[in-house]
Amino acid sequence: MHLSPLIDRLIDALQILPGVGPKSAQRMALHVLRNNRDGGERLATALTEAVTQVGYCQRCRSFSEHSMCGICTDERRDHTTICVVESPADILAIEHTASYRGRYFVLHGRLSPIDGIGPEDLAIDRLLELVADGVEEVILATNPTVEGEATAHYISESLVAHLGAGSVQVSRIAHGVPIGGELEYVDSTTIVHAFKGRRRISELQ
Ligand code: ZN
Repeated sequence: MHLSPLIDRLIDALQILPGVGPKSAQRMALHVLRNNRDGGERLATALTEAVTQVGYCQRCRSFSEHSMCGICTDERRDHTTICVVESPADILAIEHTASYRGRYFVLHGRLSPIDGIGPEDLAIDRLLELVADGVEEVILATNPTVEGEATAHYISESLVAHLGAGSVQVSRIAHGVPIGGELEYVDSTTIVHAFKGRRRISELQ
């Protein structure tokens, strides 16, 4: 059953969102048309502006509509510490704890040979350059999944190969974060403990 081609197109487009199937998309489309056309316009504008104007921070690769993000340009942040995360959502989770004052580096993924994701996709060369520029500690906060652990291991090995052992402190967040869990979904207290309990990689080997 089809109401109109434009409604069909809207229902189809809404299904790009995670967790939205045909039924939910239909409910959303009809709801906007029936109850909230102003909200629908705001949504359309916000979406268009975000997808056309938000790019990547040159330094940390987080999302930003400027060449550098607010955290990288904030002089009060500690320049000598970099926390490596898989996604910008992890930055939000860590910032929510208000306990970390360093900067970040976003991989936008994790090593996954089976999906064809290698070091070059995660810009690890860029991370090595950044660390060589006055960074004293790198905190590896990739998720405690198999791929996240492999990614943390690869980065720590690359840092040693690139900068020499002992030139930078490399630590891994503690396992307060459940194995197989994602930082994004972990509560603030657990993240704070995971950071406080981080261990130098050399202690782990
Ligand atoms: Zn940045």
